Amino acid sequence: MNIILLAPPAAGKGTQSALLENYYQLCHISTGDLLRDALKQDTEEAKELKEIMAQGKLVSDEMILKLIENTLTTSNLKNGYILDGFPRTLKQAIDYDNLLKKMNQKIDYVLCLDIDKEILKKRIVGRLLCKNCGAIYNEYFEVSRPKEEGICDKCGFSLIKREDDNEESFENRYDLYLKETYPLIEYYQSKGNLYHVPFADTPNQVFEEIKSIIGDKHD
Ligand code: ADP
Repeated sequence: MNIILLAPPAAGKGTQSALLENYYQLCHISTGDLLRDALKQDTEEAKELKEIMAQGKLVSDEMILKLIENTLTTSNLKNGYILDGFPRTLKQAIDYDNLLKKMNQKIDYVLCLDIDKEILKKRIVGRLLCKNCGAIYNEYFEVSRPKEEGICDKCGFSLIKREDDNEESFENRYDLYLKETYPLIEYYQSKGNLYHVPFADTPNQVFEEIKSIIGDKHD
């Protein structure tokens, strides 16, 4: 079973991916994470990439396609996968469709997480994450504040802010989402595999909505 998560920045794609990964035994493929890994290299390309990402701009379609093709052809994805952060442009979606055809695979569900812009902004500007275990917190929401300021509840390491989690970058990323990614909703709707996931207060409630779409059984 292959799934695409389609949503604006900070809609909870990462959180839902982790829940899906665990429940349906799928592999989580996040282009954001793959790119952040690539940043660790000490190359000219990594420096350029860092600049693009810090400004909330999109990395070139060619580079993303290479990254995805490489991941899909070299990883063990026997139960299927969740795509988080890809495709993000119509060009990426069309190229990805061609790649799927070549690999004799298909996408089963395109899940669109519906969520309000103001909530997204607070989530981004207040987001804190643990450098050690990846746990995510938010200083604006009572339920997701760490017990001790700046410290991870789970492993005790310090919490950090992602470089692109600021208001200016959010506005850029949101505008880009509307311009480049939002049209994919219609694209997948016309293919017949788009499902809207309504907003809910907690990640588990959102996941229940997803389960009601996919069901308990899987390939
Ligand atoms: P968010 O969903 O919060 O924007 P991601 O972790 O998905 O964060 O992506 C971080 C950054 O990586 C993006 O702002 C963009 O610069 C780059 N990126 C990730 N995926 C793609 C993609 N499919 N196409 C182009 N750029 C991408």
